Amino acid sequence: MTQYINLLAYPAGHSISPVFQQAALDHHGLDARYDAVSTAPDALGDAVDTLRGDGYLGANVTIPHKEAVRRHLDALDPWAETLGAVNTIVKQGSRLVGHNTDSYGLLRALREQAGFQPRGRSVLLLGAGGAARAAAFGLCREGLSMLTIANRTIGRAEDLVVALSREGTALSAISLEQGDIAGAVAGADLIVNATSVGMSHGGAAGESPIDVGLIRPGTVVFDMVYTPLESPLVVGARSAGAVGVSGLWMLIYQGAAAFELWTGREAPAEVMYEAGRTALLAAARPS
Ligand code: NAP
Repeated sequence: MTQYINLLAYPAGHSISPVFQQAALDHHGLDARYDAVSTAPDALGDAVDTLRGDGYLGANVTIPHKEAVRRHLDALDPWAETLGAVNTIVKQGSRLVGHNTDSYGLLRALREQAGFQPRGRSVLLLGAGGAARAAAFGLCREGLSMLTIANRTIGRAEDLVVALSREGTALSAISLEQGDIAGAVAGADLIVNATSVGMSHGGAAGESPIDVGLIRPGTVVFDMVYTPLESPLVVGARSAGAVGVSGLWMLIYQGAAAFELWTGREAPAEVMYEAGRTALLAAARPS
């Protein structure tokens, strides 16, 4: 019998998850389909209930449902509980359990694509939304010595610092203004962009969230933005002699962890990356 995995998103049309998840299912010869389901907020409960039907393995969940979906599930994995957000639903028997693989995706991308180990290091995190929260908790659990959170709305950075206060990492919140951020950029071993600045078709397309001229050679610069594949920040970081890593790797590795939860098979990360990269490049080509 064919098995099913859905992506619950709104809108859902631009996601490349169906491309690389289907590539992984096909790689293993599984009789399974991964489908994007455009799910308006008032249809979320029904879309989750659909997963209770025969043949469903679970789902991915993305914008704008990662927080709202929790109340429709039977249980949350402790990490999803800590983050207050779910990006993966796994059907275990008759129960739907929420997981969050975003920070795993980031940490694996840092380790495998930049050789970066967080323990004892100093990190500058740009942004204070849902993705920044997952990054902050994931990095702090790995034993950072210092985390500076910079956000356009400084109150959100301050709230995130309060939420992280038991993690045993030295914390500070600053604005994205150049006067505030210059010292933090120069002092960071790793800079992570978790704002949407630089994203194609967004309000700040073509921009970098920081002046790339401030970046020191040797710094690792990770941009969660993956449209374009190489963002202005990643390109600028490389030209400053830093190690720039595209957010596509995080997307692939969070998806790989979800794939393993649904299927129990090892995710073919390279196959998934190539499928995702090809889809992004095709979408970026003028029609
Ligand atoms: P979110 O909760 O809406 O947060 C958006 C963040 O971007 C906030 O910190 C916001 O600052 C900031 N921001 C937006 N426009 C800005 C601008 N013009 N100037 C400065 N800051 C601006 O979104 P999210 O879910 O955290 O996602 C953030 C980004 O990460 C998105 O681009 C998303 O696609 C990407 N992401 C990538 C992956 C991956 O696997 N690669 C996974 C998750 C997310 P304010 O608080 O001041 O509004």
